[in-house]
Amino acid sequence: MTDTKTLWYLLTFRCVNCGRSEASARTCLESEAGEDQITGRIYRVTCKSCGWKGEVCGISAVRISHEFELKVME
Ligand SMILES: [Zn+2]
Repeated sequence: MTDTKTLWYLLTFRCVNCGRSEASARTCLESEAGEDQITGRIYRVTCKSCGWKGEVCGISAVRISHEFELKVME
């Protein structure tokens, strides 16, 4: 049995088309990785409000929330 701890991050971006903060991306990192690795990446996002799709840099995220997810593999 192996325990793998994965950190999931939910990044929220302001849509460049409609201006609402409805564009989001979800990503995961190994547990000891720093948050600068989150903001240094490029994310492909879709706006829930107007349907705009594009690529944005993590540094422009208006909100980053994270949660631990414990996956147990047997
Ligand atoms: Zn939009």
